[in-house]
Parts: sequence; structure tokens; C-alpha cells
Amino acid sequence: MATEIAIEQERNLVGGRWVPSRSGKSFENRNPADKDDLVGVFPDSGREDVEAAVAAAKQAYPGWRSTPAPRRAEVLYAAGEILKRDKEKLARLMTREMGKVLAETRGDVQEAIDMAFLAAGEGRRLFGFTTPSELRDKFAMCVRQPVGVCAFVTPWNFPMAIPAWKGMAALIAGNTVVIKPASDTPASVVALARVLEEAGLPPGVWNVVMGSGGAVGDPLVTHPDVKVVSFTGSTEVGRRISTACAPTFKRLHLEMGGKNAILVMDDADVDLAVDGAVWGAFGTTGQRCTASSRLLVHRKVYDDFLGKLVNRTKALKVGNGLAPGIDMGPCVSEKQRDSVARYVAIGKKEGARLVCGGEVLSGGDFAKGWFHAPTIFADATMTMRVACEEIFGPVTTVVPVSSLEEGIRLANAVPYGLSGSIYTRDVTKAFTAMREFETGIFYVNSSTIGAEVHLPFGGVKDTGNGHREAGIAGLDVFTEWKSIYVDFSGRLQKAQIDTYE
Ligand code: NAP
Ligand code: MG
Repeated sequence: MATEIAIEQERNLVGGRWVPSRSGKSFENRNPADKDDLVGVFPDSGREDVEAAVAAAKQAYPGWRSTPAPRRAEVLYAAGEILKRDKEKLARLMTREMGKVLAETRGDVQEAIDMAFLAAGEGRRLFGFTTPSELRDKFAMCVRQPVGVCAFVTPWNFPMAIPAWKGMAALIAGNTVVIKPASDTPASVVALARVLEEAGLPPGVWNVVMGSGGAVGDPLVTHPDVKVVSFTGSTEVGRRISTACAPTFKRLHLEMGGKNAILVMDDADVDLAVDGAVWGAFGTTGQRCTASSRLLVHRKVYDDFLGKLVNRTKALKVGNGLAPGIDMGPCVSEKQRDSVARYVAIGKKEGARLVCGGEVLSGGDFAKGWFHAPTIFADATMTMRVACEEIFGPVTTVVPVSSLEEGIRLANAVPYGLSGSIYTRDVTKAFTAMREFETGIFYVNSSTIGAEVHLPFGGVKDTGNGHREAGIAGLDVFTEWKSIYVDFSGRLQKAQIDTYE
């Protein structure tokens, strides 16, 4: 078995030094499956710590920016190798700090590895383009340039993958970073910082400041020396950050909530659809922005689907994600578990039919953690809050539909637009849904979850603000295009005005 990573009294990383918060205050991070298990103690920072970290990132910027991209890539490649070496230890740490099962935390670390190697490869590309000029003896091209100091504010559900999506793209492009991790998952971000340090990233290029959204996040995103803000989290906080950043025209990248639908047509392979629904609804305890929280099921297969879904869900083993054979871990915190329980009460009151779960799990193996049973509401309608609002827990809603058209209409009847899916054997239905779903990600005959790092990730409507994470598209957040014209004619040539008649 891999040895554990010791994270105890942790510090911020500022300018290459691990330092306590200026106030000297700290906060605890505990295992949500076992509140007696203290994962570590982390600095409870504030404005002064943010000031110091942004100053360090600003100071490191000219050196990192002028390091050739293929050399920057070597550091990221080394980071990928270290992540690979330490994958098991990092996954165990992550399960301890946020609860999802080991198979999934291994996947989270794997995304960071994939992203490191993708970005490292990009060090020898970072393609711009050349194009003919409309004038003679004139050369035209455009190149990507870094933007400057980037601020990341990240959530707890993908504690390493999301910082890596943002971070590897920002770093390969030549930017420097200050990251504020979610208060529920600072340890994974500290671990990532150590990996980058070991890989040889120069001091000040990657800085970490821990603490609350108000005390650290707010001064960070509004800091005048921060040029790019990349935020992943709730739509509510994203809206607040958007407003705060508007006066200074900061480049702002927002990845926010979801209420993702799987549409199951009457010709679908029902068993396959049930597999996808269970994985999509209850993977990561339903705490995924891409969770399958709405199952829109054709009336002709509704009873068959629902019966199988309930059976499969009842068989899920809930428990500590570090234990073998566990399918679903706890909610990330007491607060999150209570929020799930509140939504279950709302669903019952609204008249949705509770067909599975519905209760907080306590006593016995559950006594020390924040567990909630996997829960299914059937016969839901799109007027119910449980079918429209993001619950971010192990709760899914099943809504009957009568046609493809109705399914698409209901799928689009929420403010969010992250992911969607259809199960059908009919190519016409598949392509119609592919075109009509108002989402940034779409799957055919697969669940709403399971993105790969070389494709753009993000959503439309209230899920995003037009940018994408990961892939080559992710570079657009962290680079400015510069168009360059070189006139070697030796005379004044005037675009749009000179002609060659
Ligand atoms: P959250 O409450 O919005 O928090 C996200 C981050 O913002 C945390 O680091 C939080 O700090 C910080 N924050 C809170 N208030 C802030 C403020 N006033 N100014 C600056 N920063 C502030 O979201 P969460 O509960 O961690 O994550 C769940 C949400 O993230 C869900 O809505 C989910 O859909 C979304 N999500 C979206 C994607 C995507 O790619 N679209 C991916 C994953 C998650 P503290 O932790 O200290 O409060
Ligand atoms: Mg924790």
C-alpha cells in the first residue's frame, strides 16, 4: 500500500517560500467520512497575504514569460511524471479530504497528469498562423502572448483536476498564478504546488493562498495587478465575481453550475441507459457540475427504466471512499449534506414521488460522516424545484416525456447549459438532439459525465461566460492574440487604399 502524504500544519506558498498567514490564524480540514480524522490545518489568510502573493507572481512574470515555451514545457512534463509516480498517494489524500471513492480520486489525479502532458506538448506548438498580406512585400502573422498574473478560485469537487486544467494552460502560455483553493480541499492544491516545486518551477510562478471566499477570493479577484480571473464554482458566486471584475475589464473565465439531462428514448438500450444514469447521478456523490440530475424518460420505457434504476441504486454501497467495494462516499461537508436533505424535503412537499433513498444516513458506519442515501424522485415535472435547481448531491429526478421534441424542450428548460446526453439507436434522433441541446458538452449513448482533457470543457447559458477550459481552446483564456505586420517594401504602403492597377 502507498504511504500516506503527511499534510499537517500547512502554509501558503508565496514567492517560493512556505509562509503562515499574516494573522497567524488557521482552519481545520477534516475527512467528511470520519470527522475524527484531521487531514490538516491550513492558514486562514486575508488581504495582506493576497497582496504578497500577487506581488510575488508579478515579480516572477517577466522571467517566466521570457523562458522559451519548450523549456517551460519541460517543467510541466516533469510535473506530469511526478504526478504519475505519486498518483496513489495523492488519490488517497484527496479521498480523505473530500470523500469521493478512490477510483474517482485516481481519475482526478489522472486528469492532472493528462493535462500536464497535453500542455507540455503544446510547448513546441502554441500555434499562431501566417497568412498572405493584401500588399506586396509585406508579411502577416499572429502569435499568442501571455497575459500576466492569473487568479484562480477553484471548487472542492475536483480539487486537483480543475486547478490543473487552469494551471497547466496558464503556465505553458507564460503566465504566473495565484490560486485560492476551496476551503474544503486545500490539501490537494498544496500537494499540486509541491509537485510543481519539485518539477523545477521557478519561485513565484505558482503561489497558493488559502482562506475563505470573502477574505481571500474577493481581494484576489479585484486586485489591480491580476489580469485574468479564472473561476469554477457556483453561478451565484460567479455572478458576484463577474460584477466585481467588470469595472477594471479583467479577462474573466467562469465555469459554473449545471442541471444536466439524460434523454432516454423509446428505442434506447434501457440497461445501458440505466448504467449511465446511475454513474452520472451518483458518481462523486452527485457533486459534479456534470451530474445527471434529470432523467427524461420516454413513457414507453418509463416503467422498465425506473424499476431497473431503483434496483441498481438500492444496491449501491455507501461508505468511506478509502474502503474497498464502496460505490459512493459522503457529501463533502455537513453543510452540503444538510442542503441535500433540505432539497429532499422540498421534493416531497412539491409532490415528486420518492422511490429510493431520501434519508440522511447516520449511526453505525455512518456515525462519523456526512452521508446521505442515493435518492430518486420519480414522476417529477419541470415546475418542481428539485427538477430545475442544482442540488449538488446524490439526488436525481425522473421526468416522463412523450417525444423527442418534448424531451429536447424540457432538457433546455433550465437556466444552465453544461452537459447533456441521449440514449437512442436512431441516428436521426441522435443528430437532432446533438444539434438542439443547449449545452457545451453532449454525449450519445453515454452518461453526462466523462470529459477528456484534449476537448474543450464548459457550458452555455448560466453555466459559463463564453470561454472554455482544457483542450487548445483553454489557451484562449490565458493568451492574447497579437497580429504582426512586417513591411519590407521600403516604402509607405496603405492597406485598403493602395491598389495595383
Ligand atoms: P462556490 O461556493 O461557488 O465556491 C467556489 C469557490 O469560490 C471556492 O473557492 C470559494 O471559497 C470561493 N468563493 C466563495 N465566495 C467567494 C467570493 N465572494 N469571492 C471570491 N471567491 C469566493 O462553489 P462550490 O460549492 O465550491 O462548488 C460547487 C459549485 O461549483 C457547483 O455549482 C458546481 O456546479 C460548480 N462547478 C462547476 C464546474 C464547471 O466546470 N462548470 C466544475 C465543478 C464545479 P470557499 O471554499 O472558501 O467558500
Ligand atoms: Mg475536508
